[in-house]
Amino acid sequence: MPFRDVVAARGHRRLADLLARSVARDMLPPSLIFSGPAGPDMREMAIATAQATNCLTPTGEGDRRDACGSCAACTRIARRVHPDVMVIEPGDNGAIKIDQIRDVIERAGFRPFEGRRRVVIIDEADTMASGPQNALLKTLEEPPPSSSFILVTARPDMLLPTVQSRCPRLRFQSTGREEIDEDAREIAHSVLAQAAATDDPGRRIDAAKDLLAKTGAGGRGDREQLASHLQAMAALLRDVEVLATCADDEVLANGDVRQDLQRLVTSFGGDRGVRAFAAVDQALAALDRNASTKIVADWLVLQL
Ligand SMILES: [Zn+2]
Repeated sequence: MPFRDVVAARGHRRLADLLARSVARDMLPPSLIFSGPAGPDMREMAIATAQATNCLTPTGEGDRRDACGSCAACTRIARRVHPDVMVIEPGDNGAIKIDQIRDVIERAGFRPFEGRRRVVIIDEADTMASGPQNALLKTLEEPPPSSSFILVTARPDMLLPTVQSRCPRLRFQSTGREEIDEDAREIAHSVLAQAAATDDPGRRIDAAKDLLAKTGAGGRGDREQLASHLQAMAALLRDVEVLATCADDEVLANGDVRQDLQRLVTSFGGDRGVRAFAAVDQALAALDRNASTKIVADWLVLQL
């Protein structure tokens, strides 16, 4: 899952931008702690980092490097079979064992097989007892070149102080919800509601104007504004899908506007919603490539 999809679904845009920049400049630190509430957000961001690092056909200009999400490297990383991206997690007994750490340290000593950089993700790193943590510490103190270790944890204080002090920490907020701009969300919702109400292309193109910045100058600020509307739209569509499949309400990013979402289920639950989500994703990628904001907005409303 590329950064743009993680941000659309979970928020954490500031952290994603920071990581994208580090990857673009080949300055990803040799070790990092991702700390924040339990849940998939941090793990997904770690995978996105590994993909942006090793993608064969990365997207985004300059510092906005992102993975394509579909090349052989991205696919293998997502399936956890890429030789340079290792994900360590607790076994059946709920703990990460010292053998798992020794194995990963040994492999991290070699140059990457095919990627740019080896990325080792240690999920639920707090389940390492002091033995495995001490084994890892030596590697964190003298990190092998071309390797980065990402320790993911909801309980960073369970890590040894020596381990904590070796790793810069990125803090994830409790939910992406606060990061969804209220105005952006309102606009995204109204455009979806209008698309649900009419197939008339003219009226839809009218709605597209709401997605664009009022200045209309087409500069960087305008692109960012359109991107924030699109990200809000992706988060709404994802929630509609959650409601349509009767999944757990707890995972809604926009639970506070549940009734508005429920009204969109008839139109956007199922295939149409999935296609709309993909179109929003494509629109965001086009913006990354500096496509005209008006063309992107017009194109998108016709796909909804
Ligand atoms: Zn790729």
